[in-house]
Amino acid sequence: MSYAGSNPGPFDPSDPSAPFGPPQPRRSPLRRPLTVALAVLVPGALLGWLAFEALAGTGTGTGTGGDSGPDRGAGPAASSSTLRSPTDSATGDGTTGDEKQGVGGKQDAGGTVSTAPASLKGKVVVIDPGHNPTNFEHTADINRKVDIGTNWKECDTTGTSTNSDYSEAKFTLDVAHRLRTLLQQQGATVKLTQDGDRPYGPCVDERARIGNAAHADAVVSIHADGSAAGNRGFHVIMPGEVHEGAADTRAVVAPSKDLGKLIAGNFARTTGSSPSNYIGDGSGLVTRTDLGGLNLSTVPKVFIECGNMRDSKDAALLTSATWRQKAAQGLSDGIAGFLKRSS
Ligand code: ZN
Repeated sequence: MSYAGSNPGPFDPSDPSAPFGPPQPRRSPLRRPLTVALAVLVPGALLGWLAFEALAGTGTGTGTGGDSGPDRGAGPAASSSTLRSPTDSATGDGTTGDEKQGVGGKQDAGGTVSTAPASLKGKVVVIDPGHNPTNFEHTADINRKVDIGTNWKECDTTGTSTNSDYSEAKFTLDVAHRLRTLLQQQGATVKLTQDGDRPYGPCVDERARIGNAAHADAVVSIHADGSAAGNRGFHVIMPGEVHEGAADTRAVVAPSKDLGKLIAGNFARTTGSSPSNYIGDGSGLVTRTDLGGLNLSTVPKVFIECGNMRDSKDAALLTSATWRQKAAQGLSDGIAGFLKRSS
């Protein structure tokens, strides 16, 4: 993964003129070799530092309870924003690694980063908690087909659950509430597509339209997967390009990809979880064109599958309130990074 390259630094090693300014008309003959030597050494040292940061970042995936096993897909964990301990994020202080290099981030004596209050003022975020806790009581309603532009698909599904019956719908609502709090603390306007306050749904087409109608700056649909035991880790699903019927994602593919990469990198950092070992080739990123919630979105939107509920080790994380707070923090940091970049 190229997360290490996603944080623009103050220097551009590819611009040899930057550290030196305009050429001087008269120089001592001895200064020219020195200047040439510096021109080689300074970018070299910077690259070396970046390489060190990338290596140092790979060691952060171990703070989630000691059961996370070998780190099979260390890509996003190698972000240059991995210097904070994962436990720092559990306090929900609204901080992000990106803010270390951005406007408004303040370093305090303890080494954590404080976000300027209301830095997301004026931004609208729609959170889509996947499924609905009582969908299972309304099978006829949720099985009704809706038009997703490229196809017709079920209104909604019940979602999955852990082997001990902690439902995906409960999980998604809990993470959504934690995420809402973190984003509101930064001044964002936050809307949920459902809050356990309706008998079923909304249908996937309505979920997309809620984000569109809110003119959301970013939308994230929260899920957890139901895959085979042994399949572990998170993945972010981004819209592919579709232009058929009511579906036209052409304008949102690129910004959704930016949003997805920022969420994946921050989610890996705050949770210590690895990208999926069963989809996405270790990148934690997947593009799909068959999801109504993405196909019908006219605003930047991604899904995240936070882990595999049917794997006992992932389930131990998903059922932990402490881990869910870290998950919400990663989502918040990724969204905040995206919103600050695109403003
Ligand atoms: Zn789901």
